[in-house]
Amino acid sequence: MRRDIPFSSLESAVHEAYEECKTITGGHNADYIPYLAGIDPNLFGIAVCLPDGRMVCVGDTDYRFGIESVSKVHTAILALRQLGPEILLEKIGADATGLSFDSIMALMLEMDHPSTPLVNAGAISTCSLVEPVGSSEAKWKAIVDNITDLCGSKPELIEELYQSESATNFTNRAIAWLLRDYTRIYDDPMMSLDLYTRQCSLGVTAKQLAVSAATIADDGKNPLTKEQVFDPSLSPQIVSLIATVGFYQKSGDWLYRAGIPAKTGVGGAVMGIMPGVFGVCAFAPPLDSAGNSVKAQAAIKKLMNLLSINVFSNTHYEVV
Ligand code: GLU
Repeated sequence: MRRDIPFSSLESAVHEAYEECKTITGGHNADYIPYLAGIDPNLFGIAVCLPDGRMVCVGDTDYRFGIESVSKVHTAILALRQLGPEILLEKIGADATGLSFDSIMALMLEMDHPSTPLVNAGAISTCSLVEPVGSSEAKWKAIVDNITDLCGSKPELIEELYQSESATNFTNRAIAWLLRDYTRIYDDPMMSLDLYTRQCSLGVTAKQLAVSAATIADDGKNPLTKEQVFDPSLSPQIVSLIATVGFYQKSGDWLYRAGIPAKTGVGGAVMGIMPGVFGVCAFAPPLDSAGNSVKAQAAIKKLMNLLSINVFSNTHYEVV
């Protein structure tokens, strides 16, 4: 079945989702990273981007926030671009842990595998895989260039966030050394951890993440620059990684309720991919107990419900 969605209906749905969700309270800013605790908890924005580049934006969609774990998606894409899907599966994996994003227990249980690039262990390991191995500077350039390709514009390092996170990332340090012990890290552990911490500290806007989501939704073609960022054959693998563990231990509940693969970050972003239809990013700092933004997830769920679209439906949607 095919269903056309008028652009005006998309616009009304985004505005309605924003109005309905802006008064939601609940959740707390991440405070294990001191910088994030100080961000205004009332910031809130939703941005949707279509494959043809049209956008619908409401609220604080130009505010630059810490990309945090959403960057795990981007760097997984970089590893896929550089090394292909089989190596990523063999060296990291594509499974959910069912545990929190920084779970040491998950890594101990799966000592032969970090599971997925979308939890901390797998993401640190993915940074170690990024080429050229051995050069922090060249790897960092590859990571930032790849995010720029996907977003269609540059992210900017939030230096204060980077310092704050570097000074307090004790759990991630333990994870990096455990990976070393399990021979699941493929470059210097502390260099890989530093790259991971720096990429999490990149500042992006909801608009930028909506563009990168639309790039993924349109098989790697950036809607703004029209550049083919990654090979279209990689799209199903990228979306499957996001669907499997994008909401950490809440991933199944999320897919069941909202029907869109999405990745969260403790900076407050939720980036959703509706393949072939649109990319979306909602942003609001307060998080639930699993580290997922309360308001951003409510807004995207509301939007999906208002539009009656679902990635698991047999309907082919097109915004016209
Ligand atoms: N940089 C954060 C950490 O390593 C990212 C976690 C997240 O966004 O889920 O703890």
